Amino acid sequence: MSDEFDELTLPPPRERIYCNRTLSLRGIRAIGFDMDYTLIHYHTEPWERAAYQHAKKRLASAGWPVMDLEYDPSFATLGLIMDLELGNVVKANRFGYVKRAFHGTREVEFQEMRDIYAREPVDLGDRRYRFMNTLFALSEAHLYAQFVDLLDAGELQKANESIRNGLPIGYEEAYRLVRSAIDEAHMMGELKAEIIADPDSFVDLDPDVPLALMDLAHGGKKVMLITNSGWPYTRAMMEWAFDRYLPKSKGWRDLFDVVIVAARKPLFFSAPNPVYEVVDEDKGLLEPALGPLKRGKVYHGGSADLVETQLDIRGEDVLYVGDHIFSDVNVSKRMYRWRTALVVRELEQDLEALEAFKPKQAELTAKMDLKEAMEHRLSHMRLALQRLDRGYGPQAEVDATELKERAKTLRKELRALDATIAPLAEEFSRLSNERWGLLMRAGNDKSHLARQIEKNADIYTSRVSNFLGNTPFVYLRSPRGSLPHDHGPAGGS
Ligand code: IMP
Ligand code: MG
Repeated sequence: MSDEFDELTLPPPRERIYCNRTLSLRGIRAIGFDMDYTLIHYHTEPWERAAYQHAKKRLASAGWPVMDLEYDPSFATLGLIMDLELGNVVKANRFGYVKRAFHGTREVEFQEMRDIYAREPVDLGDRRYRFMNTLFALSEAHLYAQFVDLLDAGELQKANESIRNGLPIGYEEAYRLVRSAIDEAHMMGELKAEIIADPDSFVDLDPDVPLALMDLAHGGKKVMLITNSGWPYTRAMMEWAFDRYLPKSKGWRDLFDVVIVAARKPLFFSAPNPVYEVVDEDKGLLEPALGPLKRGKVYHGGSADLVETQLDIRGEDVLYVGDHIFSDVNVSKRMYRWRTALVVRELEQDLEALEAFKPKQAELTAKMDLKEAMEHRLSHMRLALQRLDRGYGPQAEVDATELKERAKTLRKELRALDATIAPLAEEFSRLSNERWGLLMRAGNDKSHLARQIEKNADIYTSRVSNFLGNTPFVYLRSPRGSLPHDHGPAGGS
């Protein structure tokens, strides 16, 4: 007789939690969640369009010639890099080599890109480069590219005659203008008020998240909300996205042991931020928080240090789940050794595209194996010719004329094979996103984003509700084979 458990299989790829560093969820005592793009996912296009419009309005009222600009949601994707010195938006591989580049909104031709970046890998430690850590950066990247176009066309300089007495403007200054406009759009109330007034248009609901949190809480873990969003916005979003899936007598607040808003990450993980209690939740009145953090209260600010002390937990006991590569997973791990989980919704698109490409991938792999074997033979023919010519070393049994003929035929076969590989490789490079390709790949290699994830996130998944199917008791193991020689010796089977 079989029952429901006998038939259980591992979750399908899009519901899996992927592991860089082995993690036993059973061993985690406290689990913290970021809100925006983690517990709550947004319809990115309207959200970013709204942010773009608010930023544009600010720039227009300062006198910049932006009124004709329109937001293009397909321009950018997560994990790209803005090069402030050259006014470019680029995608790099794990070593920092640029694989695709746009100058302003114009694609840079392959050769031009090679000439610029071949000797200069991108280094995120250099302030010249800005990494797109979160989906909130999509509008910023597009607006920046459009500003670069305006700068190149002399439009910014023209406007600047009356704005700043014509002081020269470069690509970096153009970025600062865009950055502060986007920053203000997020900080001032209007944008958030627009979202709060019509959450249906912006929030991408996921009915499974509340149950996933209940499983974790009843599994003995302290569950925390730690968000950079302010209290009124947090309350509106959490009520909208959670309360509908909970019994009438319960609200989203019941799911959390600790609620911290306006956390100021990454500072939350690096500085002794003061903590306040939200004492009047409707008016948002704050008072300095004295005594221990209490369940059912809302706190504003604070620090990772405070959380550790109050809950009596340390580094490896805590898992923090967020979407921001720097503020959520890099700093928390670097400063506090918290275990980290990254939520990357776009992974679902990548997985879907890869699944559909499987038959062609098999064809591509077979052709590449064949190409490698043929190149190997060709190299040996060349070497044999060189030895024949120079009269040293072991000599081939066939003469030079015949060898040359055979090499010529092989080269022709290789060219024919290349012609069949090229369209497949091109199709692969455009999978998931016509302009930038798969999130986690750049050319044949891992993308810079993939490398950042590997370095900073112990685990990653496309949505928080994937914790549901994996259970609070899952033991996540990192895959063993990740070195070139794990896949068999080069040229071997
Ligand atoms: P979290 O992801 O829950 O920590 O919250 C992200 C919050 O940061 C949201 O309220 C965003 O509106 C806000 N945010 C995102 N980008 C910026 C920015 O560039 N400046 C200021 N706030 C931002
Ligand atoms: Mg977030």
